[in-house]
Amino acid sequence: MSKSVTFRAVLEGLLILATACLVACRTPPRAERVFLNGHVLTMNEGLPIAGGFAVSDGKIVAAGSSEEIRRAYPGAAQEDLGGRTVMPGIVESHVHLLSFGQSFLELNVEGAGSPDEVVQMVKERAARTAPGEWITGWGWDEGAWAKDYPTNEQLSRAAPDNPVWLRGLHGFAGWANAKALEIAGISRDTRNPQNGEILKDRKTGRPTGILKNEAQGLLTRHIPPPSAEFLERALTRAGEECLKYGLTTVHEANASQAVLAALRSLAAKGQLKNRVYVMLDVTDRQLVEPFLQRGPEIDPAHWLTIRCIKIFADGALGSRGAALFEPYSDAPATRGQLTTSQDTIYQVTSRALKAGMQVAVHAIGDRANRITLDAYEAALREARPTGDPRLRIEHAQVVALEDIPRFTRLNIISSMQPPHCTSDMPWAETRVGPGRIRGAYAWRSFMNAGVRVPLNSDFPGETPNPFWGMYAAETRQSPDGKPEGGWYAEQCLTRTEVLRAYTVESAYAGFEEKIKGQIAPGLLADFIVLSDDVLAVPPKSLLSLKVEKTYIGGKLVYSRQ
Ligand SMILES: [Zn+2]
Repeated sequence: MSKSVTFRAVLEGLLILATACLVACRTPPRAERVFLNGHVLTMNEGLPIAGGFAVSDGKIVAAGSSEEIRRAYPGAAQEDLGGRTVMPGIVESHVHLLSFGQSFLELNVEGAGSPDEVVQMVKERAARTAPGEWITGWGWDEGAWAKDYPTNEQLSRAAPDNPVWLRGLHGFAGWANAKALEIAGISRDTRNPQNGEILKDRKTGRPTGILKNEAQGLLTRHIPPPSAEFLERALTRAGEECLKYGLTTVHEANASQAVLAALRSLAAKGQLKNRVYVMLDVTDRQLVEPFLQRGPEIDPAHWLTIRCIKIFADGALGSRGAALFEPYSDAPATRGQLTTSQDTIYQVTSRALKAGMQVAVHAIGDRANRITLDAYEAALREARPTGDPRLRIEHAQVVALEDIPRFTRLNIISSMQPPHCTSDMPWAETRVGPGRIRGAYAWRSFMNAGVRVPLNSDFPGETPNPFWGMYAAETRQSPDGKPEGGWYAEQCLTRTEVLRAYTVESAYAGFEEKIKGQIAPGLLADFIVLSDDVLAVPPKSLLSLKVEKTYIGGKLVYSRQ
């Protein structure tokens, strides 16, 4: 036997041993439950499509062909997926849980076609409400109705004895009646607060009832705060709704002290419906300060993690509150306004980076995006974070094209909302004109530049249905297929990119890509069973796709039947 043959034999022997060990070592000794006969879209590049997987102690322990899994775990309980498509639970990386929950418990006027419709709903509510009691509600469209805002007179006639306050769909304006203005002491003499506007009648000088941006606080501070019991009920209701859409994790995009307390209470009782990643409201110093000193609270059980600070750099495009460099194309007297200074963003970010906290800045207009990038760049230079800071810009809605490479260079996450694009496309170009629109809702440009782009919905301003968001990102069309070919179709994404953006990329935005967003060994067993093949159906069919079952930590938490 020659030396080289011996050597090869030894090498082959070693290889066989190594392979045997790989198979054996990869197969953990037990699994409580196996899921078989599925079309499992794992989102894991090593094994993109599997037939089954095994779950133990709330985690995935193996994925493979149905047969492999059955043979590897003969003692496990078996669940037959019946050929259905399974994918990782959706990580919804930007939502407002309280407003969403409230929208089921308060007067919900979303979808009302005109102010008159809303007034009618208020009138009906007032008939069932004791005099003097507040009527609060949500959901009129402050963007679509910006051309001709309604006034307090209509509301006052409908509910003369009750103060009424109706928050807009996106939270950037509210509509009050006379009683509410009176209780808040808002009169013709009240001055606009910083970053807010009290709309006043041109002739009489009286407040019309519409309060924009920070001016809303002048009124809302007079509304009795919701009880802790109400908050928990609203958040629970929000969580239940999320499960229907397969949202196993949500990023709460602006938690107040009270909301955080309610989330903590629910978590302590084991009653959170889905996993929550929290962004804290920076305007509440008492809330934020301890985190800027001590750093994040990362839940080892992955139910409630508090790791991010939320800052608003400007308002919204619809209500012309987004901060632009040049005037609005359809309102030459205004350029919108910044709601937080560049210096404040810099100061907070610099401290957050040192404490290991993430920062997420809401930035819609090109100017708001640039000052945020400037503040981030300066803070990164000053704080020199040793870890991986993953600073976020929420929306990045209208960005100067030359600023996109800065996202790449500074490693800034661009967290974007496809439903905003298809809701805004009828009027967005009239706001910003043909030049600036090139950098609007430009997720393809961001991805091509190598930027991480988690996609999400920002509900309740938009539908919580992620498959509607996927349809919007892929087609850039309204649900009825308009415009033909898609609005600025060069920005359309592929189905695979879209699916990644709602799972892997969104998990990444919360530092959780190693624990969720895929069906792979070692990751949480958060997954959903779908009515159809989300990878293969034509775009239109995404709109009717249903979540049949939702599992969190291997437990069934929602079933459509
Ligand atoms: Zn938001």
